[in-house]
Amino acid sequence: MNRRQYLHRSLSILSALYLVPTKLFAQPKRDWPAIEVLQNGWRHLVPKNFDVVSLRPRINISRAEQAKRFTPLEIEVLFEEGTENPYSSPYNEETRPGIYTCRACSLPLFSSEMKYDSKTGWPSFFTSIPDHMSKKADYKLIWPRTEYHCSKCGSHQGHVFKDGPPPTYERWCNNGVCLNFIAKNSA
Ligand SMILES: [Zn+2]
Repeated sequence: MNRRQYLHRSLSILSALYLVPTKLFAQPKRDWPAIEVLQNGWRHLVPKNFDVVSLRPRINISRAEQAKRFTPLEIEVLFEEGTENPYSSPYNEETRPGIYTCRACSLPLFSSEMKYDSKTGWPSFFTSIPDHMSKKADYKLIWPRTEYHCSKCGSHQGHVFKDGPPPTYERWCNNGVCLNFIAKNSA
């Protein structure tokens, strides 16, 4: 077997090894159209005449502006990657239809249809509005976690874990102090 044949054969074996588990453990496809509709269909939960902030332009909130606009706890969690105490947010109990926006820049981040009760003490969601959140690795604890930030202003929101409910199996564990809830029937 020459070098080219050897490479070709190795690649075939690797492809087979990759495809078998993909087929065995693939999620049922019927769930995914529903989640895409839910991820992209959040605008029906926005109150009439409510001005929806758009992703662009991206903004940077200066330290001086932070001090003027936010409480010390909001500054700590939004801009210094702190965490609020569990069970401290009234949004744990919030079940009305509506949207959750970034407290710093008002970009919509989640809808009420994405929320569930994780019983962890923080408002929890099984997905978020596409492209409105950016993820990065966080090594502050011994094990690495994935933290996420608002894509418009960069403010810290929370961490995403893989122990959530179907269909995504994700738990977006958000600090309530980083959110504003806008009820659909509030306007
Ligand atoms: Zn923001």
